[in-house]
Amino acid sequence: MAKRILITGAAGFLGSHLCDRFLKEGFEVIGMDNLITGDLRNIEHLMKERKFDFHHHDITKFVHAPGELDYILHFASPASPIDYLKIPIQTLKVGSVGTLHCLGLAKEKNARILIASTSEVYGDPLVHPQNEEYYGNVNAIGPRGVYDEAKRFQESITMAYHRFHGLETRIARIFNTYGPRMRLNDGRVIPAFIGQALRGEDLTVFGDGSQTRSFCYVDDQVEGIYRLLLSDYSDPVNIGNPNEISILDFAREIIKLTGTDQEIVFKELPQDDPLQRQPDISRAREILKWEPKVSREEGMKITYDYFKSLSPEELQKREHKDFSEHIRR
Ligand code: UDP
Repeated sequence: MAKRILITGAAGFLGSHLCDRFLKEGFEVIGMDNLITGDLRNIEHLMKERKFDFHHHDITKFVHAPGELDYILHFASPASPIDYLKIPIQTLKVGSVGTLHCLGLAKEKNARILIASTSEVYGDPLVHPQNEEYYGNVNAIGPRGVYDEAKRFQESITMAYHRFHGLETRIARIFNTYGPRMRLNDGRVIPAFIGQALRGEDLTVFGDGSQTRSFCYVDDQVEGIYRLLLSDYSDPVNIGNPNEISILDFAREIIKLTGTDQEIVFKELPQDDPLQRQPDISRAREILKWEPKVSREEGMKITYDYFKSLSPEELQKREHKDFSEHIRR
C-alpha cells in the first residue's frame, strides 16, 4: 500500500516541489494550502494525478484529513520579509496555532511529522557559521520577530509533543533556498534580482551589500528534507548550502549571468537584516549522508532560464499578490 503524506503549504514554492518529489517516490499526497501566499499555478500540473488530492484549507482552523496518514510535512507559512511584514498576524498564527493543529493531527493519526523551521531562529547570528547548538540572537519585537518567534515556538512545541506524547518529529532548519516557482517580487533577493534583470531595471542592493547569505538550490533542499523525514533523528538539522557570498558580489554574478548591463543601486538596509548567514551542515552530512550538489552557477542558470521562459502575462501574474482581503483578519 502506498504511504500517505499530508503537505501543508502545498501550493507554495517549497511545498509544491515536495509534492512533486513524494509523488515521484510513489506516495499518495494530500496537499493543503489557504493560498494567501501560495499559488495554484505551482501545482496545476498535479491536479490530474490520481495520487494527488488538494484541499483549500487554512490550517489555523481545525484540520481534518480523512483516512490514514503516515507522514505530515508542515510547510505552510509566509517566508519572505515583505510577506510577513504585510501579514504579521497570519505569520504568527500559522507557525503557532497552525503547528499545534498539525501536531494534534499527527498524534491522532499516529503519523510522523516534519516541520519546516528556518535559519531565522538564529536571528542576526553572533556565531559563524551557524550550527544547531547555537541558541540565536533574535529581536522578538522587531519586524522579523513575527516570523522568527513563530518558528522558535514551532520548534519548542514540536519537541514538547515529541517528549510528552512520544510523537515522531523532525525539525528542518532551512537556509535560503531558491529555484523555479519562487514568487517574483516577494522581496527575497533572488526573485528581486531576476525580476529586475528581466525588466532591465537596476539591481537594488540593500545596505552596502557586505551582508552574506548562502543559497541552496531547491532540488538539494528537497533531497535533504526527504532524507531527514525518513531518518530516525528528532533534533533540529540545518539544511542549506554552505557556499557563502556577499549580496554585492551576488549582484555582480547576476549581471554576468544575465549578460545585461544593469547598474547596481544601493537602498537602505532593512531593520534587523542578518549581517551574515552560513549553515554548518556537519550534522546533515553525518546523519543524513547529505550535502548539496548543485553549484550556484548551475542553479541560478536553471532558475533564470525558467523565469525567462515565462510569457510576460505569466510573469506579471507571478509578480504581485494582493493580500488586502486578509490584512484585517
Ligand atoms: N536584499 C537586497 N536587495 C533586494 C532584496 C534583498 O540587497 O532587492 C538583501 C537583503 O537585505 C538581505 C539579503 O538580500 O540582506 C537576502 O534577503 P532575502 O529577503 O532574500 O532573505 P533573508 O534576509 O530572509 O535571508
